[in-house]
Amino acid sequence: MTNPIFHTSFKARPLWWDDYEPQILPEIALPRDVAVAVIGAGYTGLSAALELSRAGVEVLVLDANDPGFGASTRSGGMVSGGVNVGKRYMSKAMSDAEAAPFLNDAADAFSHVENLIARENISCGWTKRGYFLGAWCQSHYDAMAKKVNVLNAEAHSDSYLVPRDRQRAEIGSDYYRGGMVVERAAHLQPALYFKGLLNLAQKAGVTIAARTAVSGLTQNSDGGWQVQTPRGTVRARDVIIASNGYTGKTTPAFERRLVPVGSYIIATEELTPDLAATISPKNRSFADTRRVLTYYRMSPDGKRLVFGGRAKFGMTDPLQTAPLLYQFMIDRFPQLRGVKITHSWTGNVAFTMDETPHMGKLDGMHYALGCNGSGIAMMSYLGHQTARKILGKSNRVCAFDREEFPTHPLYTGNTWFLPYLGYYFRTRDWIDRRWN
Ligand SMILES: Cc1cc2nc3c(=O)[nH]c(=O)nc-3n(C[C@H](O)[C@H](O)[C@H](O)COP(=O)(O)OP(=O)(O)OC[C@H]3O[C@@H](n4cnc5c(N)ncnc54)[C@H](O)[C@@H]3O)c2cc1C
Repeated sequence: MTNPIFHTSFKARPLWWDDYEPQILPEIALPRDVAVAVIGAGYTGLSAALELSRAGVEVLVLDANDPGFGASTRSGGMVSGGVNVGKRYMSKAMSDAEAAPFLNDAADAFSHVENLIARENISCGWTKRGYFLGAWCQSHYDAMAKKVNVLNAEAHSDSYLVPRDRQRAEIGSDYYRGGMVVERAAHLQPALYFKGLLNLAQKAGVTIAARTAVSGLTQNSDGGWQVQTPRGTVRARDVIIASNGYTGKTTPAFERRLVPVGSYIIATEELTPDLAATISPKNRSFADTRRVLTYYRMSPDGKRLVFGGRAKFGMTDPLQTAPLLYQFMIDRFPQLRGVKITHSWTGNVAFTMDETPHMGKLDGMHYALGCNGSGIAMMSYLGHQTARKILGKSNRVCAFDREEFPTHPLYTGNTWFLPYLGYYFRTRDWIDRRWN
């Protein structure tokens, strides 16, 4: 590695895995019959399985890899309750009344994770110190002004605008044209949150078949399912698809509704205390309104900056994206020039055609899919909601549980167009920053 940005201890894997990495579980004999088979052992699948198992339902979770191998141990660890959903809805000029149910459920998603972590004593660095959304250009700042009231009324965000001349109180940078603080936001160590969920699921009696890819799903005449794997077939009364950005050919109906996109992160070496103190004076987490989004926060020990973004839109080696992310980081924090990076990694997120998460039932399969880049709270919540629906315990219909789960006539799962979308977004960003 000749690039001087890389530390001698550099690893192309998540920083979080230094504390907990996806474990090889003992191989189990597959049961012949279960009540519910869950495909995917991330936050979504385990949240659903936990709720079902605690209600006395026999659940089998199958994962093609070691549990947690997907996005759930790779994320930025930033937890927000509504601001992302709100951003999407309001950028599409939906009325407040239309946006309200989604924001209400997004706020509930935040409460769900916060309460779960507290109630179950999950030690995962939960830090509720708010979030600062930096405006990439003046027009984005003006648009935020229109969102604040709705976010506060419907998502209980405790949000307020911060003009450019006061943003130094929130972030050690002059990069943005002002921004918005959302006090009801947190950050955590995502792999430790995953470990906590996995432990709870195992204690509740959930059976987990690791390294067992589901290769086919066939519905029986009685409505039940044959779940095919290279290790044998399992009969299940219900199936839940929880494969998000790793959804593939086994479920073509979902593959064509989800666009998997790589998201990339770097972590710096431990900063000197003086330098670390310049980044996030209130220990907030950060993101911006740029189309080629960046998001970042300090590590739980406050010593490193963990800096993520859509450095590339296709799936690329995180070694290639590290220098790009490094430059984005220096653009925002010139004081970090010369700091080395110790980790660089990637994982898949799943975008939907309407840029909102979905749960429901399609072709007889339950699903909770489409995190759109922000799923720690949302996907945990939708997994839980899916289980409650199967149990007949939902006292109302979740706003994300909708009949329509849109497709695009030209898309069946091939993401050849993503690099071109990346060029387009970068050009739009450049125009916005210069002229708007
Ligand atoms: C780099 C990165 C940064 C992110 N940052 C944030 C953030 O800061 N805040 C936030 O809220 N969200 C963030 N996210 C999103 C968040 O991590 C995801 O929304 C969440 O982890 C999705 O959980 P999941 O259980 O739905 O999917 P995953 O955790 O991705 O799990 C899906 C699982 O399905 C399995 N699978 C797929 N196909 C099959 C099959 N046929 N058979 C068996 N198993 C199968 C896979 O092996 C995988 O383990 C980020 C994601 C990434 C990648």
